[in-house]
Amino acid sequence: MARHRSHGQTSAVTKTLTSDVLVVGGGLVGAALAFGMAGAGATVRILDGGDGDIRAAHANFGLIWVQSKGLDMPAYARWTRQSADLWGAFAAELGDLTGVSLHHRQRGGLSYCLGEKELDDKRAEIARLHNQRTPWSPEVTVLDRTELAGLLPGVTLGPAVRGASFCPQDGECNPLALLRSLHHALAAQGVPLHRNARALSVTAMAGRFRVITEQGGFETPRLVLAAGLGSKPLAESLGIAAPIRPQRGQILVTERLPEFLRFAGDTLRQTADGTLMVGATHEDTGLDVSTTSAASAELARHAVSVFPDLARVNLVRSWAGLRVLTPDGNPLYAESEDHPGAVMVTCHSGVTLAAAHARLLAPAILAGPLGPEFAPFSAARFG
Ligand SMILES: Cc1cc2nc3c(=O)[nH]c(=O)nc-3n(C[C@H](O)[C@H](O)[C@H](O)COP(=O)(O)OP(=O)(O)OC[C@H]3O[C@@H](n4cnc5c(N)ncnc54)[C@H](O)[C@@H]3O)c2cc1C
Repeated sequence: MARHRSHGQTSAVTKTLTSDVLVVGGGLVGAALAFGMAGAGATVRILDGGDGDIRAAHANFGLIWVQSKGLDMPAYARWTRQSADLWGAFAAELGDLTGVSLHHRQRGGLSYCLGEKELDDKRAEIARLHNQRTPWSPEVTVLDRTELAGLLPGVTLGPAVRGASFCPQDGECNPLALLRSLHHALAAQGVPLHRNARALSVTAMAGRFRVITEQGGFETPRLVLAAGLGSKPLAESLGIAAPIRPQRGQILVTERLPEFLRFAGDTLRQTADGTLMVGATHEDTGLDVSTTSAASAELARHAVSVFPDLARVNLVRSWAGLRVLTPDGNPLYAESEDHPGAVMVTCHSGVTLAAAHARLLAPAILAGPLGPEFAPFSAARFG
């Protein structure tokens, strides 16, 4: 396949442009896939929306989170674990290519339990996960309060903390650095990223797809819809079921603190810069990305319940973003049966799965159609 020469990021388009693959969406999912496909030798273009778009990639918590994934879907437990295992080499490759540090750390993650019921529920959940007995199951253990305190010497735990689950495969990164690094890497690979080029419609014709954007037309034999919530109308126009919905998540950030929290956490994470992130809410509020004082109060209460010393710490920021959720919360990798060559890719763990998307899913899409290992992620599971 021919390779584009250094196009970088582009805007104005006057004629129909072609490529081996056209990726719609330049967020974490689209950028990771494009990076993987260009690395495998395909000519790739990306269409992305405008500055005002709602982007999950700009709002997330930065976890590479393994421990709770795949309950009731062993294939997802395996997929997540594979991605976490690939993450170190993936971060190193991006760092070498772009000079951007992703602050990737895999030191394990904690999910704190407040009260005996939460700890009992956590024990039951982990037992169910272990009973699935897949070779890739995460190694999760449940710690009581004394064991947890032993992991966090010098840190005062709130009286309600009864314990936590711990998984050594959990990790974290700076998600904004990840997106920036992917975009830099794509420019270095010669992949044009067409900004303000929202795909308005897609037409299938004789083994090719024609996409009309605000900036002109694009044609390709292989179309990847990775536009987050924006994929839905495009996918449905190609006969791909796209049962996705937005779910709001609000996050708080504190001032910088000396390092006290070595481990990632699903509700409390200290970044490499020292700030503490507290999150995130799960709210069905449509496309509303406003923050609320009620959610901020609830998040702050949780943080102080776990670590009472945080009561003396200043909050400096809060924001809200929209997760892209399928009905069961698991990824959706759906190919069009009517129009082979078109695939929709979405998930609510675009950071965690970035390595697997670039290294494993991207070449599988190029080779197409997706093999049986991806069948559990198809839309067939929704009937
Ligand atoms: C509060 C919160 C916390 C999260 N925490 C984590 C976490 O800790 N770990 C983790 O792994 N994941 C986390 N996530 C999820 C993660 O952020 C998403 O999985 C990831 O960002 C999804 O990326 P995306 O590329 O699918 O979507 P987006 O980031 O939303 O990007 C979609 C892109 O498509 C473009 N677009 C839309 N429509 C069109 C169109 N018609 N034509 C062209 N372009 C279009 C948009 O401009 C945008 O750039 C979190 C999400 C939220 C909201």
